[in-house]
Amino acid sequence: MHRILYIEDTENNRILVTRQLERKGYRVMTAEDATTGLALAAKEPPDLILMDMGLPDLDGWEATRRLKSNPALRHIPVIALTAHVMQGDRDSSIAAGCDDYDTKPFQFPRLMAKIEALLATSNPSPPSQSPPLSHAP
Ligand code: CA
Repeated sequence: MHRILYIEDTENNRILVTRQLERKGYRVMTAEDATTGLALAAKEPPDLILMDMGLPDLDGWEATRRLKSNPALRHIPVIALTAHVMQGDRDSSIAAGCDDYDTKPFQFPRLMAKIEALLATSNPSPPSQSPPLSHAP
């Protein structure tokens, strides 16, 4: 089962998105701010991160830059979420290292398609992250 970390300070969005993702069979972790989210990602690396750009501590771009500068975490795909539909936001998201980008209000079929595409192309269990299932003799 794929695990998704959703970093978002708005409680209603966390509830809404978590419900949609769980309905699709994903396991969801949430964080209310970037610092908590980055700590959680380091502790329990998810398969994908949904990153709200407007967060109370660091903005999503800075949080993504930090994530992508960490060799242990940089392989995790990040989808940037913003309320803005400006081209500049898209460019900033990609420049910060985000793998894809989507806008609010949420359109779940579109967002789910982006999530599925990224999970399909990324390795869900890189060797450095997953312990062997059995011990060699
Ligand atoms: Ca927000």
